[in-house]
Amino acid sequence: MTDRYRVTVDKTACDGIFACLVRDDRLVEADDGLAGFDPEEAVSVERTDDRVTATFEDDRLDAAEGAARACPPSAISVEVEE
Ligand code: SF4
Repeated sequence: MTDRYRVTVDKTACDGIFACLVRDDRLVEADDGLAGFDPEEAVSVERTDDRVTATFEDDRLDAAEGAARACPPSAISVEVEE
């Protein structure tokens, strides 16, 4: 099933532990040492000083939610678009 959803990493909460990367390989270590997204995998990636948000349209919502659950400081949020 194809879902359209947004995944956000709150950079103020991210500790660079990278438990998320093994749950969802679209998450990568960014230049700042915190979690970011592989832009090749996303529809779009938006960055601010505090957060980075990727929009996806695919069948991998489960992986994104698994990464969010695995993040110790709960820095990842997933929002499904209708
Ligand atoms: S698991 Fe959470 S804290 Fe660790 S790198 Fe990923 S988003 Fe950041």
